[in-house]
Amino acid sequence: MPHTKEQQKPILLLIDDSPSIHRLLAFKLKNEGLEFLAAFDSTEGVELAQSHQPSLILLDLNMPVVDGFQTMRALKECSQTISIPVIVLSGTTSPEDKVRAFELGAMDFVCKPFDIHELRARINSAIRISRLMKMLEMRAQVDGLTGLWNRAYFNERLASELAEASRNNKHLALVLCDLDHFKKLNDTFGHPAGDAVLQGFAEVLTTELRAYDIPCRYGGEEFVIILPDTDRDEARQVAERIRAALEAKGWPKFPDIHATASFGLTTAGLAGKDDPASWIQAADQMLYQAKHAGRNRVEVFSGPPSDGKAHLALAS
Ligand code: GH3
Ligand code: MG
Ligand code: MG
Repeated sequence: MPHTKEQQKPILLLIDDSPSIHRLLAFKLKNEGLEFLAAFDSTEGVELAQSHQPSLILLDLNMPVVDGFQTMRALKECSQTISIPVIVLSGTTSPEDKVRAFELGAMDFVCKPFDIHELRARINSAIRISRLMKMLEMRAQVDGLTGLWNRAYFNERLASELAEASRNNKHLALVLCDLDHFKKLNDTFGHPAGDAVLQGFAEVLTTELRAYDIPCRYGGEEFVIILPDTDRDEARQVAERIRAALEAKGWPKFPDIHATASFGLTTAGLAGKDDPASWIQAADQMLYQAKHAGRNRVEVFSGPPSDGKAHLALAS
C-alpha cells in the first residue's frame, strides 16, 4: 500500500549565509510545529534539499560565492527538488529581482527586514499548498478502488527498478496476477461483490508482501507486483503464498464466493531483452500458461535460452 509522509512534521530548510537570520527564525518560529534544517551556503542547501526533501525552502538571494538565483536554478533543474516550494528572502525590494525570482520558479518573495507575522503566514500558506500538491500527486498514482499503486505509477516504477537492478547487479522479479473467472463471479454475485473481491485481493497482497514490494492494480481484475531484490525461487514462494491466501480467504458478506487467481512470474525479459515491455511480455506469457493449465496456479518463466536452465531444457 502506498505510504504517505503526511503525518510527519513539515521540514523547513533555511538557506542563508547570515547566522543571525538562522537564530532569529529558529526563535520566532519555534512554536509553529516545524522541523528546522539549516544551510549556510548554496551547496549545503541543495544537498540538504535533496537528502531531506523539506516541505519548504526559505532562500536568501544575497549570498557570497553562489547567490540565491543560481541556487534557485540548481533546485529547479534537479528532479528531486524541482517541486519543493521556495520562498525567496531578499534585502532588496527591486522589482527586477522579484520578477527574476518568480521566473526561476519561486513561490513567494519576502523583503528583509521582514515582519515576522507576515512571514509566518506566508510560510504556513506555502506549506498548505505544498501538502495539497503532494496529495494530488499521490492521488494521481493510486487506484481508487483498492488503494494500491495504479498502472501509471507501475510503468514508472518498473522502469526505475529495472535500471536500479541492472546498475547494482541485483535480483528483481515481476508477477502478473489475474483473478479467475471473474466475469462469472460478477454475473453470479453482482458487481459490488466483484468489487469486494478486488479489495480483498488487494488486502491479501498488502498482508503477504514486504513493505518494499510494490503491488499495483494493472487494470480491471489484473494486478502486478514488482519484487525488488528477490530471486526466482523466493518470488515463486511469495506468489504461491498469495495464491494460497486468496484461495483460503472467506467472504463474510458473500459466503458462497470462492475466489482464486492465476500468476505469471518472471525474473527476465522475453527473448533476452531487458526493457520493461519484454519483462511484461514474459510475465504475461506465463500468466497465459497458468490459465491454460487450469488456473489457480503460479507459472514461472525459466529465462531466455542463454539462461542455464532454459538452455539445458532446449538441448535435451
Ligand atoms: P479468466 O479466468 O480467463 O481470467 O476469466 P475472467 O472472466 O476473469 O476474464 P475476463 O477478462 O473475461 O473478464 C474480466 C471481468 O472483470 C470482466 C469485467 O467486467 C470485470 N471487471 C473489470 N474491472 C472490474 C471492476 O472494477 N469491478 C468489478 N466488479 N468487475 C470488474
Ligand atoms: Mg483479465
Ligand atoms: Mg480474469
